[in-house]
Amino acid sequence: MGKRFDALLFPGFKRKAFTLSYDDGVVQDRRLVKMVNDHHIKGTFNLGYGVLDHEEIARPPMGKPLDISRVKKEEVASLYEGQEVGGHALYHSDVSSLGSPYAMYEVIEDKAGLERLVEYPLSMFAYPFGLFDEELKEILKLAGYKGARTIRSTYSFALPKDPFELDPTIHFPEERLMELAKDFIEKPAFKAELFYVWGHAYEFDIDDSWDRMEEFLTYMEGHEDVWYATNSEILSYMEAYEMLEYSADGSMIYNPTCTDVYIMTSFETSECLKAGEVTKIRETKL
Ligand SMILES: [Zn+2]
Repeated sequence: MGKRFDALLFPGFKRKAFTLSYDDGVVQDRRLVKMVNDHHIKGTFNLGYGVLDHEEIARPPMGKPLDISRVKKEEVASLYEGQEVGGHALYHSDVSSLGSPYAMYEVIEDKAGLERLVEYPLSMFAYPFGLFDEELKEILKLAGYKGARTIRSTYSFALPKDPFELDPTIHFPEERLMELAKDFIEKPAFKAELFYVWGHAYEFDIDDSWDRMEEFLTYMEGHEDVWYATNSEILSYMEAYEMLEYSADGSMIYNPTCTDVYIMTSFETSECLKAGEVTKIRETKL
């Protein structure tokens, strides 16, 4: 690969991308997915295949009873249609501490089971409890995953460096959510930015925050300079950018992928590199 003098832009020369990531496949997802669809927003919903159909009311010592039942197997394909389903380990175990054989079993049985329901290969995983180690990352790669989400809030819009350590911008219940949303929407982006919000849909019942979510999605919806995409759509696009091939002097770029890739070659110049074509760069900073 030649010298990278350019920077990635999102499809359509956009500099901003927004995505959601919601875990556990709880029954509150039914209401959440409808809201997300109604606002034309995209996200990834990470499920444990082994606990689907499970019914449970949590009764914490403080606070009100909370329904943490999971959605039914038979509704998974239709409920999440238009959104992405990801893996979350078969029984939501801490797969970073189980030892390889059982960790492999939790990862692969979850993936295979969910894939039978949704009828496409799963690309994304969310670490149960946010816990992971190098061995688990290897297991996920061998299982065919493209990336995995942590629970470490960055409060930034930086693009991920390691797809198997996808740190979200913020956990939805945190106070700074709307402040960050306003920064993201209102401030001009000089390079590609990603706003990545995660949570569990039962949290809207815990703190009565369904209205806050409605307000957030309404605010985030319909901005022409924002790319609304699932987690894996964003990673696939970043992969295509990484695969670009450069001439020695940087004046020509070959895009060997099936995806048009948009880049910024200077502050004023950007290019669309068509899939399967060589593009001559109008201006370089060599
Ligand atoms: Zn979880």
